[in-house]
Amino acid sequence: MKRFAVTAFGRPLCALVEDDPVPRGSEVLLDLERCGVCHTDLHLREGHYDLGGGRRLSLADRGVTPPVTLGHEILGRIAAAGPEAGEVGIGRRVLVFPWIGCGTCHRCLAGEENLCAAGRCLGVHRPGGFAEKVVVPHPRYLIDVEGLDPSAAATLACSGLTAYSALRKVGGDPARDWLLLIGAGGLGQSALRLARALGHTRIAVADTAPDKRARALALGADLVLDPADPGARTALLGLETGLAAAIDFVGNAETTRFAIDTLRRGGRSITVGMFGGEISLSLPLLPLRALTLTGSYVGNLGELRDLVALVKTHGLTLVETETLPLAQAEEAMRRLEAGAVAGRLVLSNRS
Ligand SMILES: [Zn+2]
Ligand SMILES: [Zn+2]
Repeated sequence: MKRFAVTAFGRPLCALVEDDPVPRGSEVLLDLERCGVCHTDLHLREGHYDLGGGRRLSLADRGVTPPVTLGHEILGRIAAAGPEAGEVGIGRRVLVFPWIGCGTCHRCLAGEENLCAAGRCLGVHRPGGFAEKVVVPHPRYLIDVEGLDPSAAATLACSGLTAYSALRKVGGDPARDWLLLIGAGGLGQSALRLARALGHTRIAVADTAPDKRARALALGADLVLDPADPGARTALLGLETGLAAAIDFVGNAETTRFAIDTLRRGGRSITVGMFGGEISLSLPLLPLRALTLTGSYVGNLGELRDLVALVKTHGLTLVETETLPLAQAEEAMRRLEAGAVAGRLVLSNRS
């Protein structure tokens, strides 16, 4: 089989050819059909995140060492299974939950494997979906997606799940409270569609790009704002019930400040994006305004199952996808890096 891997950080992906893996124990082998291409893949190829102030978070220091077969939005058909996997349904089309933990710590036992400190995520620590075959350690990470468009379904494992898990942290009353989504790119648009399906009726969307604001309006945003416009803060501060929560899909100093400045008392800011940077914060404001500043990182297995059910029930398409052959993995990465992507790029190993 062929796989596309980072063999040295900062370098283009390399095509590696090797024997097909043989599933052992509880492992399941998938024939890849689709794998989404994510900004996280760009960070993984570069080997670091920008922490602001010239500092970097090195992936090598976090146990990520080349070769890394990228790709964590994996959808495929079950080809084979190890002797302890049980009845898995050979030939079944499944979506993979990639945010796998150690399986034994308190976080993992509580069903929050995505927060495990010793994660064994597919496409990060274990070989991912930029490959013709993928080994999944246990059938419990497989979710039935028969009937869904395979390219769109693949993106649920990261971009869809990230938006959904952030929305689950909003709390409050979705029919009354104002929710602000910062950034109307792929994740923001997914969140907007999901928020409506979850019953949110007061949704504001902030983006500096006029075309993205127009898109958000077309998708049902109740209010769109340009955060660079001084009137945007005034508009949010003047909302009758105030701004209850903000989800920041950009995550730089300006967007974080924008959320903190416009939340009502008791408001909640949820950072998802990792554009990078840092802010200084007047600490007395946290208790005086009873603010909650929190982060959200992908989501857990239960949330992915709930998300797939929600998408099936409402017939939702969260993000537009463009499908390319698996062999164009490096080209897809370059296009994403250049920002020349309207929706989500998805690699395909079948026509
Ligand atoms: Zn991702
Ligand atoms: Zn764990």
